[in-house]
Amino acid sequence: MPRPAPPWGFCLFNNVAVAAEHARRQHGLRRVAVMDFDVHHGNGTQHMFESDGDLFYASTHQSPLYPGTGDRAERGVGNIRNAPLPPGAGSAEFRAAMSDIVLPGLDRFAPELLLISAGFDAHHADPLANLELETADFAWATAMLRGVADRHCRGRLVSTLEGGYDLDALAASAAAHVRALLA
Ligand SMILES: [Zn+2]
Repeated sequence: MPRPAPPWGFCLFNNVAVAAEHARRQHGLRRVAVMDFDVHHGNGTQHMFESDGDLFYASTHQSPLYPGTGDRAERGVGNIRNAPLPPGAGSAEFRAAMSDIVLPGLDRFAPELLLISAGFDAHHADPLANLELETADFAWATAMLRGVADRHCRGRLVSTLEGGYDLDALAASAAAHVRALLA
């Protein structure tokens, strides 16, 4: 993994990248994937993963939006899948991006551990971005990712809270996410 660079945005430590490296060094896992549905592209995670074929990063995010990365053409060593969504995109576009780009990429990679960068700022009520997701979309995505973890990781799935700036939408979405994790 490349050396970490200075922080961007609201982030000091990249929790999922630290977790991936910990899983590999301390628990003997080799292949670790991150799925990031935060509305902002995870430029730091992509940067730390993009030259290591045993790591995989997939992201749905609004584009254009800060930090300006995450073009579909950014593919790393074949281990990066970006699904940029235009401002105004909602449930149908998000679910299509998951079904057409993210989930096939995860299935092909076949991780031993799946980490979720669970940001809820793609919710329609969020003030920092312009996607139109519903609370139920986060529950659906969570169920899809549980399927990946069941197929490839013996259920090993860890979710980390990231963005979300409308507190009511954040609370409802995080609750729906955790309910889907527990279902
Ligand atoms: Zn965000």
